[in-house]
Amino acid sequence: MKFSEILGQNKIKEQLASMVNNNRISHALLFHGKEGIGKKALALAFAQYIICENKHGNDSCGECPACKKAQKMVHPDIHYVFPVIKEGTKSAVSDDFLPQWRDEILSNPYFSYQHWNNVIGDGKKASSIYVDESSEMIKKLNFKPFESEYKVMIIWLPEKMNTQTANKLLKTLEEPSEKTVLILIAENIDFMLSTILSRVQQIKIAPIENQYINNYLSENFSSPEDLVQFAVNYGKGNLNKSIDALQQSEENKRYHNWFVQFMRLTYSNKMLEVIELNNEIISYDKNEIKNFLSYSIRYLRDNFLLNKEQDNLVFLVENEKEFAQKFSSFINENNIELMYSSINQTIESINRNANVKIQFQVLAINMVRAFSLS
Ligand SMILES: [Zn+2]
Repeated sequence: MKFSEILGQNKIKEQLASMVNNNRISHALLFHGKEGIGKKALALAFAQYIICENKHGNDSCGECPACKKAQKMVHPDIHYVFPVIKEGTKSAVSDDFLPQWRDEILSNPYFSYQHWNNVIGDGKKASSIYVDESSEMIKKLNFKPFESEYKVMIIWLPEKMNTQTANKLLKTLEEPSEKTVLILIAENIDFMLSTILSRVQQIKIAPIENQYINNYLSENFSSPEDLVQFAVNYGKGNLNKSIDALQQSEENKRYHNWFVQFMRLTYSNKMLEVIELNNEIISYDKNEIKNFLSYSIRYLRDNFLLNKEQDNLVFLVENEKEFAQKFSSFINENNIELMYSSINQTIESINRNANVKIQFQVLAINMVRAFSLS
């Protein structure tokens, strides 16, 4: 990864490049700051800059053999240590999970600890850096660099080390091997040993500046400007959070679209067209379908409350508000019960693995009935 591929963080990039340019690389650095701001990406770019054979303009070249290997995460002098999940009493070290680590970093180096736990486990188990790792680390640090002047070890989330492992790391920090750079990447330094903190050069990484997240989202998503703006503000410099906000609202828009069509078609009893729409909806996976049904329940409730003029309870985004202005007048105590119960039945049937296609036709018929009650 080149520095230029990282969103914002220009001051830190310059600071890191000048360390290398002036031959003042500390043997241990600690990048710390919030999740989703690019600390891993900065560590990768810094490592690549150190080993690049043709640096220019304060960035690695991306073309030399060393850069190519670093970019594929197969450079023999760049090592990675990160939390892993242990099964029973079997030992577990980072190298066991290297394929998943590479895949995730290469697809999005901004990923979170929770995301990593989802990738290597069921998401409920918290990964750690176990003591087995420390002998691996010491072994790797004792090698002479294979191809470059320096070897680099990137340690993601050292706060996930238990005390035993942390103490071994401390030893390494006390007796640094030559031409070795340790890059620690932490989110919460309160959980780190003070003896470790005092032996590293701490570099605080700030959240990504809004303008960079804004540009990134505008280029990569087809969302309208106000949604992008909302996602930028919501993320507060955390790229993952901004992307989540945008995707959530992208989904919401799709659900809203389906809802509007489904209601219009069942209201006017256009069953052939309903079948077509249903086929589109059920082509998505079950979670998506259930999310849509839950969305429908929430939105129906909002419309019912609007009709009852209890609208201070309702929070709607622009397109929802617009449709609800007219639609809410059709939702009342005569039909709301049947609508709720039919949607809930559909969700339950999907949970029981019933035929989704049939369930959606039943839902459509019930909706036609419900409208006839209003
Ligand atoms: Zn290079």
